[in-house]
Amino acid sequence: MIEKRIDELIKILNKASYEYHTLDMPTITDQEYDDYYAELVKLETEHPNLVREDSPTVRVGSVVIDGFEKVTHEVPMMSLGDIFNEEEIRDFDNKVRKVIPNPSYVCELKIDGLSVSLLYEKGKLVRGATRGDGTTGENITHNVKTIKTVPLSLPEDIDIEVRGEIYMPKTSFEMLNEERRKKGEKEFANPRNAAAGSVRQLDSSVAASRNLNTFLYHMPQATNYGIQSQMEALEYMKKLTFVVNPNIIHAKNIDEVIDYITYWQEHRPELPYEIDGVVIKVNDLGDQRKLGFTARVPKWAIAYKFPAVEVLTKLVDIEFCVGRTGKVTPRADLTPVHLAGSIISSVTLHNEDYIKEKDIRIGDTIAIHKAGDVIPEVVEVKRERRTGEEKPFEMATHCPICGTELVRKESEAAYFCLNPNCDARKIEGLIHFASRDAMNLEGFGENIVEDFYNMGFLHTVDDYYTLHEHKEDLQSLEGFGEKSINNLMDAIENSKHNSLERLLFGLGIRHVGKKTGVILANHYQTLTNIMEATLEDLKSVPDIGDTIAESVVEYFQDEKNIACIRRLEEYGLNFSYQGKEKEITEDFADKTFVLTGTLSIPREEAKQMIEFRGGKVTSGVTKKTSVVVVGENPGSKYDKAKELGIVIWEEEEFLHKVNNN
Ligand code: NAD
Repeated sequence: MIEKRIDELIKILNKASYEYHTLDMPTITDQEYDDYYAELVKLETEHPNLVREDSPTVRVGSVVIDGFEKVTHEVPMMSLGDIFNEEEIRDFDNKVRKVIPNPSYVCELKIDGLSVSLLYEKGKLVRGATRGDGTTGENITHNVKTIKTVPLSLPEDIDIEVRGEIYMPKTSFEMLNEERRKKGEKEFANPRNAAAGSVRQLDSSVAASRNLNTFLYHMPQATNYGIQSQMEALEYMKKLTFVVNPNIIHAKNIDEVIDYITYWQEHRPELPYEIDGVVIKVNDLGDQRKLGFTARVPKWAIAYKFPAVEVLTKLVDIEFCVGRTGKVTPRADLTPVHLAGSIISSVTLHNEDYIKEKDIRIGDTIAIHKAGDVIPEVVEVKRERRTGEEKPFEMATHCPICGTELVRKESEAAYFCLNPNCDARKIEGLIHFASRDAMNLEGFGENIVEDFYNMGFLHTVDDYYTLHEHKEDLQSLEGFGEKSINNLMDAIENSKHNSLERLLFGLGIRHVGKKTGVILANHYQTLTNIMEATLEDLKSVPDIGDTIAESVVEYFQDEKNIACIRRLEEYGLNFSYQGKEKEITEDFADKTFVLTGTLSIPREEAKQMIEFRGGKVTSGVTKKTSVVVVGENPGSKYDKAKELGIVIWEEEEFLHKVNNN
């Protein structure tokens, strides 16, 4: 069984490696390759007797293509070990420190290109070569000579080999793919394959036309030149007129390395070339020697790879979820994948039109990313991966929970279950009432609400306030002690004092979100006033449109809702707005603010402070932004604000203005 899987993985990886390194045309993504690779490493570590000679874990790169003269690397050109998170970075540091008690590290950007070896004799370029399989590479001197930043002669008449990366700048990569698209040729998957495809051409006019560039970062025989560290090697190469990346730093310890990684993870879009991670190297060459190599990689260096911003996965099935308003939403069940720090196993497909427009089918391979870095979203369907087995989508015709026929309302893309007694709708409504932005009943998560509902203790939202009558039954449930039940009861009791806008939002009136709740509460001050308001009256409230007004009126015309509200009143819930009248001040009135960095007060609080004084908070910095408030470790918004010359307040100044100077 295990042997079979190892065999499968080796076949997949070797095929992928050939397509990637030799043909420069990958058919799977790097993330997929890295996942298969990690699986193989795990199996081989658990069963060392099954490690095969043709395993990609003991080899570098791929074979040399015909037509190129072969060159032998005197010092092998190795690959690098990969790591993907902070724990693995610290683990690398711990392993190094077992041999070298106090190491310092050089942090370099991991340029997404292909490695090259440049050989000079008496100061003249005599050979440029690819890495190949690590020992044998391809002679690409004719192409390397077309790269303008590769010096053909050095300021000193020395014999030397230097290594680095040939890369294609982002703009050239985009232009090249655009051209290929127009000509009906296959596009390159990434700048690395594009650069590799350009230098591995027999006709040097191709490479010459592709605007390639270089960064050099390694001298395999540095000690022959009296050099003792990686930093010195970089300096020396600069003196020899090679291009060395300007963003390299010397880090005193692993925390500084992590800071560097964090910074570049955020700022990489600003670079004119692609990077796919950061390479961490022990600085001292003597220390490097002590640490040595494995068969494939050095032990004194490692590559941290940035998390993928877009990943591929399989859409296994489409399910239907019923929300509290009865809206039925299709949801894709996925083969779980890592994406930007979390494991994603499902993604919303919104509605029938969305699915039809993207032609999403069950069994498809889809690309997903995180929209706004939080919510996963489908980017596209990989149609080229279809096998013919995929099943076209069909919208449900009946509610998956209560079986009622679904209705598509006019001018809406969504289908609804209109059965007011549908269990799914009721449970969702109860969960919503307890949620943080609504009544904030801490401890009432989805599972508890569903359990209490199924036990018959919770049916409508007012039932929360009679739960104490079932305290003994609840206490006897598995997983609930007296303490946890008391905490739940306290949360319920405290919620009775909530300001009106929370209750309004919690009731789940259609179209009344958190913001609308505040607008209505602020305008009408009490629930009774809102219940008595006419349609015309509601429509005249600023920011309340026809749809909201109609929905509010409809809600309060329903006798069941009125009865529920009467019971809430009886249980002693507060029905009035406790928000203060706004205190408009000149520093804030009609200004647009952006918050960035870590503030000592919660962001929400800072936002409320601004809004209370007449300002508005937005998320992105534009020319229209009036003030950017910066906390500690501000991000790119701070840089943008400086670039646009926008007023910047440190937190202290902001709080000073809040307190009216
Ligand atoms: P690698 O790309 O993970 O790292 C090693 C390389 O990093 C070096 O050879 C060098 O060229 C480069 N590099 C860039 N900046 C550097 C710097 N400052 N210092 C040192 N080196 C630097 O390893 P690899 O062996 O070249 O390739 C393996 C990776 O390629 C896999 O992890 C995978 O992501 C990708 N791959 C993808 C496929 C596919 O089908 N999609 C197939 C094979 C490999």
